[in-house]
Amino acid sequence: MVAQASRLKNVRYDIRGPVLRRAQELEAAGHRILKLNLGNPAPWGLNTPEPIVADMVQHLGDAEGYSDARGIYSARVAVAQYYQTLGVKDVQPDDVFLGNGVSELIVMSLQALLNTGDEVLVPSPDYPLWTGAVTLCGGRPVHYRCDESMGWEPDLEHLAAQITPNTRAMVIINPNNPTGAVYSREVLLGMLDIARRHDLLVLADEIYDKILYDDAKHECAAALAPDLLVITMSGLSKAYRAAGFRSGWMAISGPTSTATEYLEGVQLLANMRLCPNVPAQHAVQTALGGFQSINTLIRPGGRLYEQRNHAYNKINAIPGVDAVQPRGALYLFARLNPEVHKIRDDQKLIIDLLEQELMLLSHGTGFNLPTPDHIRLVFLAPVDVLDDATDRLHRFLETYRQ
Ligand code: PLP
Repeated sequence: MVAQASRLKNVRYDIRGPVLRRAQELEAAGHRILKLNLGNPAPWGLNTPEPIVADMVQHLGDAEGYSDARGIYSARVAVAQYYQTLGVKDVQPDDVFLGNGVSELIVMSLQALLNTGDEVLVPSPDYPLWTGAVTLCGGRPVHYRCDESMGWEPDLEHLAAQITPNTRAMVIINPNNPTGAVYSREVLLGMLDIARRHDLLVLADEIYDKILYDDAKHECAAALAPDLLVITMSGLSKAYRAAGFRSGWMAISGPTSTATEYLEGVQLLANMRLCPNVPAQHAVQTALGGFQSINTLIRPGGRLYEQRNHAYNKINAIPGVDAVQPRGALYLFARLNPEVHKIRDDQKLIIDLLEQELMLLSHGTGFNLPTPDHIRLVFLAPVDVLDDATDRLHRFLETYRQ
């Protein structure tokens, strides 16, 4: 018998757990499932821009060997320059690590940091890899509340109250998955001030920094706090619709001389995985430096803008369902009014929806929300598919009333 490592016992990643397994069973039995559960743009015809693919293809011949463990120089220069133009001072190519997506870098940055029992402040709800990775690395995720009535901005009082002598780092996901919130400068400054007062490493997941709607403006945390050690993460999966290439980066800024041991740990982990996928690294410079086709998708008339509006209007028209309008990212995080719907277990609700309507959404507790009263819908699908999806949800919820 081969037993599972005990360190995995409390690691949760439920959005890809039993719900997805049930969907796979139904598919294996011949059903077609409408899947609005993944932030994966390409399958919905939101393809990687042509020049990025062309650049990768052109460089395939040079990409046979391992690269520098941190990534190829041209990509690291492009990332450093990108953050310099956003106002992050002094970030140099050697402060940049490329990875096989942000996912790998999340795990690496925490693995190098945490001892057993160290605490990390993580938003609730969060992109659940953050909570899972803190646990995997022996740490304790401590959730700070994001306030739905304030457009899901973090509750600064609650955040400050979670600090203990064991707190080591603060995770900021902005724009946020799953809520679509884009934090105001004021709230961000408040968060950074808490990090400053308690000497916390700031882990800023900004993978949606270019996916903004209406007048939303993204503030780069590292630019607002040059005196803090900030690790800013992003990549090609979302704005460049290249999730399958597995390409992301992190840029380390601030007083790096105060963290030499930690940074040596990060380098050690980078060395141990040899290097990130090399062909995809060649796409980074072209992506960051080229025409930003994401801008045509997010402005009025663009697909993402129209799909966001459509999903928002249709979801809010369902009795007992309300959602804050997303100002960024690709998700609608909707509340199912507990006075209208009888929900004890939101994972079960998602499985019931899957079985009755052959449609896959995600449950709110899978994003570490404490209450089982939210669902997440990905609005990457065209409006006719979103129409169908919201009709299915409406019909299903009629059967789920108090
Ligand atoms: N961070 C957030 C907030 C995300 O939503 C995702 C993917 O959905 C990731 C990180 C992972 O991205 P990558 O494909 O770069 O690993």
